[in-house]
Amino acid sequence: MQVQYDVIIAGGGMVGATLACLLGQSGKRVAVLEAHQPALFSPDDPYDLRVSAISRASQRALLAAGAWEGIVARRAFPYEAMQVWDATGTGEIRFDAADLGEPDLGHIVENRVIQLALLDTLQALDGVDVFCPDKLAEVLVDAQQVTATLHSGEVLQAKLLVGADGAQSKVRQLAGIGMETQDYGQKGLVCVVQTELAHQFTAWQRFMPGGPLAFLPLADGFCSIVWTLPADRADAMLRLSDGDFCRELAQALDFRLGDVTAVGERAAFSLRGRHAEPYIQERVALAGDAAHTIHPLAGQGVNLGIKDAVELAQQICQAQGDVGSVKVLRAYERARRGDNVLTQKAMEGFRLLFGNTLTPWKILRNSGLSIVNQMSFLKYEIAKRAMGI
Ligand SMILES: Cc1cc2nc3c(=O)[nH]c(=O)nc-3n(C[C@H](O)[C@H](O)[C@H](O)COP(=O)(O)OP(=O)(O)OC[C@H]3O[C@@H](n4cnc5c(N)ncnc54)[C@H](O)[C@@H]3O)c2cc1C
Repeated sequence: MQVQYDVIIAGGGMVGATLACLLGQSGKRVAVLEAHQPALFSPDDPYDLRVSAISRASQRALLAAGAWEGIVARRAFPYEAMQVWDATGTGEIRFDAADLGEPDLGHIVENRVIQLALLDTLQALDGVDVFCPDKLAEVLVDAQQVTATLHSGEVLQAKLLVGADGAQSKVRQLAGIGMETQDYGQKGLVCVVQTELAHQFTAWQRFMPGGPLAFLPLADGFCSIVWTLPADRADAMLRLSDGDFCRELAQALDFRLGDVTAVGERAAFSLRGRHAEPYIQERVALAGDAAHTIHPLAGQGVNLGIKDAVELAQQICQAQGDVGSVKVLRAYERARRGDNVLTQKAMEGFRLLFGNTLTPWKILRNSGLSIVNQMSFLKYEIAKRAMGI
């Protein structure tokens, strides 16, 4: 039997599930295809390796999607300050939520917690069906609709197919949409650690020539770390014993939090910048990592993806007539591409500026950080932009 939807979303990750919640709440008929059943959550579980720094704009979107309560009920950790400094000089900058009149700068949340809260919300929405675990097997696009055959044999029809299926997007491949890719030659090493000194509700980030190291605060004195390293050095760090790794890590943070006293499982992800060109074609749209991936140095990847979801939901909900038409989808792409490109270029600029060991660049970034730190207005404009307020 063929079931008729307004929108089929491939990918029930953080971006696809946010889009589905927003559409479902507006009365749209939505099918979500998610390849993997997310691991269940218990408050006694150790922290997951994959966490995201969620901006105020994303928090608001997740609230509107009906998932923020479920996120906080599981676990989310607000951070109140951010301290950034350059390993090769004296440049340093500090952002404080209190100076902005805000309770926090954002929240550190495990990715699976966000996904589970969104999927819970979806289960309660009448117009939304979640197919999990399931995937697209075949797609047929014609002038009237998209027909999707799933691995399970189910056949679905809709006006629009959205690829929110991550960086290796199958929808993008099936649609023949091109992708500009840049391999940074770096990996992001992630793990959860405990430190000798309290993290003070602060996100700590030290820029080194090989890449930045971030300590993101979690409850009970834990920190989630993202350490960008040249790929071969990241692999070597994965092979170290726990004791040797903790020593290297504490030193890399310049002992700001004293010794690293415990470390959990470690993993490293290859880092690539990607941008799809275009994001849309008739009856197909891409969102989140399926459309763009950026360097994680400022923790903006999923925040951009959630902005895509909000914009796409808005364009679909206010469309008069066919939601899969190029006219509707072009308005989405026009609204989002500029912000995504600008953020990607800014991250690229930071990566090159802080990775450069030549003296003029060292002077430029160190004096730049110190000057901006003293210019309250500029500093807080930067902070507000990162928070999306
Ligand atoms: C080391 C590191 C640290 C990061 N830290 C941050 C941070 O602090 N803040 C931030 O904003 N961003 C961060 N990011 C980026 C962030 O993780 C991604 O931008 C985000 O996960 C993208 O979400 P998404 O839903 O678009 O894609 P994904 O998270 O990749 O989700 C895609 C979903 O689609 C499913 N799927 C895949 N293929 C199919 C298919 N064929 N059919 C059905 N389902 C499918 C997958 O199972 C998955 O659930 C970081 C990235 C890295 C590598």
